[in-house]
Amino acid sequence: MTQKFLYSRENRKEDTIISLGNLRIGQDLVFMAGPCSVEDNLDLMISIAKKVKDSGAKVFRAGAFKPRSSPYSFQGLGERGLKILNKVREETGLLIITEVMDTRDVDIVSKYSDIIQIGARNMQNFSLLKEVGKQNKPVLLKRGLSATLDEFLMSAEYIMKEGNTNVILCERGIRTFVDYTRNTLDLSIVPALKEKTHLPIVIDPSHATGYRSYVKSMSLASVAAGCDGLLLEVHINPDKAASDSKQTIDPEVFENIVNKSLSIKKIL
Ligand code: PEP
Ligand code: MN
Repeated sequence: MTQKFLYSRENRKEDTIISLGNLRIGQDLVFMAGPCSVEDNLDLMISIAKKVKDSGAKVFRAGAFKPRSSPYSFQGLGERGLKILNKVREETGLLIITEVMDTRDVDIVSKYSDIIQIGARNMQNFSLLKEVGKQNKPVLLKRGLSATLDEFLMSAEYIMKEGNTNVILCERGIRTFVDYTRNTLDLSIVPALKEKTHLPIVIDPSHATGYRSYVKSMSLASVAAGCDGLLLEVHINPDKAASDSKQTIDPEVFENIVNKSLSIKKIL
């Protein structure tokens, strides 16, 4: 007998819909937006959050624990960043998504966030996957830099096997020989995943392209491909963002992406 994986369509025919307040992830087109990192300026974080909320974002993204290629780059504000995110939630009513990098921080990140993010570099950190599978907040799992579709799904299975079936898959670009973008957005994974799994799929065109001038096109293409939402890096002053400034868009571009995405979604 072949095993029916928890993520599979054989196990569950209907799409998984994750309810958070009024938001239905897997049903409504969801916009998650905010700066790459939580910055040490509560007023600025609240201003960005209010801007993206006015344009239709339901979730505020910002990392307090940052996976950086260089140990000398800004590593994030840690627990202080989580407290800033908590204030952003109180002030705006937006849901919060933020990354956890270490099993030792799962409890505290779970306490302060509404959705826990597992970054691309940790997609196969199996201890971390098991740990987030034991807590009760939904998990957004990013595809590893060179992960195959089956490896990606098997990482989701690690989380689900522990009891937490609220997993959102996130394509954020993969490593290829292409060097004009930071990564290569693998959009055909959307229909491929839709066939294999009932889990919602969110696309991150910011990390996938690495350049703000490509983010709008790839956002709209992602919606046309049938994704369930977008995760976007947005800052009031993109050039001054503490990390990933080159790929960070401003609130006006974000608003335009939201409006056009909703029009595209209507005709699908
Ligand atoms: C992020 O979204 O903040 C991030 C670090 O992304 P990734 O893990 O996809 O590189
Ligand atoms: Mn980033």
